Amino acid sequence: MRAARFHGRGDIRVDQIDEPVCEEGQVKIRPAFVGICGSDLHEYLAGPIVVPTTPHALTGGQLPVTLGHEFSGTIEEVGQGVIGLKVGDRVAVKPNLSDGNCSSCAFGRPNCCRNLGFIGFSSNAGGLSDYVVVPAKHAISLPDTFPLDIGALVEPLTVAWHAVDRSPVQTAKTALVVGGGPIGLAVVQVLKARGVKTIIVAEVSDQRCVYAQTLGATHVFNPLTENVVANVRSLTGHAGADISFECSGVQAGFDTAMNGIRVRGTTVIVSLWEKKPVIDAFDVVSYEKHVLGAAICEDGDFEAVIDAIASGKINPEPMITSKIRMEEVEEKGFKALISERDKHVKILIDIEA
Ligand SMILES: [Zn+2]
Repeated sequence: MRAARFHGRGDIRVDQIDEPVCEEGQVKIRPAFVGICGSDLHEYLAGPIVVPTTPHALTGGQLPVTLGHEFSGTIEEVGQGVIGLKVGDRVAVKPNLSDGNCSSCAFGRPNCCRNLGFIGFSSNAGGLSDYVVVPAKHAISLPDTFPLDIGALVEPLTVAWHAVDRSPVQTAKTALVVGGGPIGLAVVQVLKARGVKTIIVAEVSDQRCVYAQTLGATHVFNPLTENVVANVRSLTGHAGADISFECSGVQAGFDTAMNGIRVRGTTVIVSLWEKKPVIDAFDVVSYEKHVLGAAICEDGDFEAVIDAIASGKINPEPMITSKIRMEEVEEKGFKALISERDKHVKILIDIEA
C-alpha cells in the first residue's frame, strides 16, 4: 500500500510499504481526509524534532515514519475484543499515545505523558496511507452523516477545545486570541461555541484576518499597523481582556497576549516555541496574572467537538482552503503551506482521490 513517509528534514516520499495487520483490541481504518499541521511543517523544515531517530519507547518506530495525525476515515476491520465499533463506521482518530505509567499518566494527564507518542509521527501508523491500524480507543465515532472532510478538522479543534477549557471561560466576556493560524482560528470557533461575546484577534496577515472574521471573531486587529493592546483596553473600559490565547509562537505575540489581559486575567499558551520567550514576572506579580499551558487534548474533547459540529455550534468548513492527492503532498501541501502561508489555513489530502 502507499504511505507518505518522513525520511528526514525536507524529505517526504510516497513509499510502498506492507499493509498493517489488525490485531486484538485494534481497528483497521481506511483514511479518507488528512490535514497537514504546523507540527508537520516544523518537522519538515527543522526536524526530526518529535519524530524518533531511535526506536520509540511506545511504538518501537523510528525514521522513516508515516505522517498524518489529523484524519478521518472508515473502519475496514475490527480486531478481537473490540466493542462499540463496526465495519463501515466513520471515525476521527485521537493521535496521542501515552505509556499509562509515568508520573503524568499516574496524575491523570496522559496528554502530558513523559513518553508521549503520536499516530502519524512515531511509527508506520499514520493517516497518510491507504490503511492504518490503531488501538480501538483511539478511533472516535462520528455520526453516520458527518462529512469525512470535516472529520479531519476534529483533531485541531480538540486542541483548541482543551485550551479554552484550561481558561476560566465560564466567566469570560472578552477573549483575545493572538495569532490567526489554524490553531488560533480553531480557538476563535470554540470561544464562539462556548458563548464568549467579544472575541478579538491579533493577526499580521490580512487574508487570515478575513478568515478570523468569517469564523467568529468580533474584532480583528493587525499588529503591524495597529496598537492591539490599546484597542483591547478601549473595548474593555481600560481593563483588558478576561482571557487570552497565545497562538503565534513569537515573543511579540506573547507580550501582546500578556499585556492584553486585565488584573487577574489568564493567558493560555497553546503555541509551540523554537526560542524560549521572556516573561515579564513583575507584570505577572503586579497585576496577579495567571499563565497556563495547554497540551494536545483530554479524554472527552473529541466527543465534545464532534457534538458541537453536529449540532451546528461550530462550522469549521471555511478552514479548508485546498484538497489535494497523496502524490501532491510535498509540492501542493508542505511547500504551498510554506510559500503561500497567507492563502491557506488547512490543506487536506484526499486519500482516495
Ligand atoms: Zn505517561
